Amino acid sequence: MIEFQDALKKSRAYNLIKHDIDTGNLSHAYMVISPDVFAVQNLFRLIACAVYCKYACTTCPVCKKVLNGNHADVKFINEDGKKIKVEDVAALIEDTETKPFESDNKLYFVNSADKMNPAAQNKLLKTLEEPQKAVSIFLGVGSESAILDTVKSRTKKITLDRFSAGDIKDALISSGVAVGNATIAAACADGMLWRAKEISSNSAFSETFDRAIFILNNLKKSSDVASFLNDKTLDKDNLPVFLDALSIVLRDMIAAKTDKNLIMSKHKEWEIETLSKGFSLDALSNILYLVNEERKKLSFYVGSTGVVENLLLGILEVKYKCQ
Ligand SMILES: [Zn+2]
Repeated sequence: MIEFQDALKKSRAYNLIKHDIDTGNLSHAYMVISPDVFAVQNLFRLIACAVYCKYACTTCPVCKKVLNGNHADVKFINEDGKKIKVEDVAALIEDTETKPFESDNKLYFVNSADKMNPAAQNKLLKTLEEPQKAVSIFLGVGSESAILDTVKSRTKKITLDRFSAGDIKDALISSGVAVGNATIAAACADGMLWRAKEISSNSAFSETFDRAIFILNNLKKSSDVASFLNDKTLDKDNLPVFLDALSIVLRDMIAAKTDKNLIMSKHKEWEIETLSKGFSLDALSNILYLVNEERKKLSFYVGSTGVVENLLLGILEVKYKCQ
């Protein structure tokens, strides 16, 4: 199965490689760069289909064979993303030396190739320098810095860009995620498919989102702060999620005041618009800034209760100051 197929098919990275396939110019080696390991893994599966099926339909017998791992000429390596040993590279190299078994191409997709140590990379280098005719090797890397220059220079470098919220949302909806959850996940994913997947499959997220709206609605005076300190959506584990949700609500409130077309959470448009009337534009941007500052503190292991207290008091202060 390929997740986020429609979004991937629109990506620049996919279309560059698809163009190489369609024009008979598939390179011997590619380096696909993205911190989104999950997206690269799915992109690799889609490319494998595209090599053997004009439409990369993912459902015909050939595509199914590729995706089920039963195609003799396609190898997906390190899909669990843990570690690539020198022996794994040795096995890959040995395999490239035989002719394709059931097609004209032999494809190797190495996930998280930046996990290869220099010894493993050097071993691979020789194959990249003198590739067998039918062989194409795809290296997925989170960042280029862990890859030796000698290896880099032998590959065609392609960056997998972040995805637009619209494309993520459409892909989630077409995979059966409810519109509300898809909207929130797309808005909070920061263009990363793994985050979109994680958020959309977390049923607590939409509850947290509603809670963020509730708190903004009901936080009126400093004595209200204490009543929210024990709120379970604000506990230590859920606080980063809450801050994400709150950021989306705030951005949407700003949109409600400036350009309603930019509101992401369409399913809550009316509530967000009403809520935004109680805040000035200045107050909203200051609160958004505050949320980011408190988020940074969390990564420095400041206690979560302190962060919540600061945040809620800060919201009240800003709201009052910027009326
Ligand atoms: Zn197909």
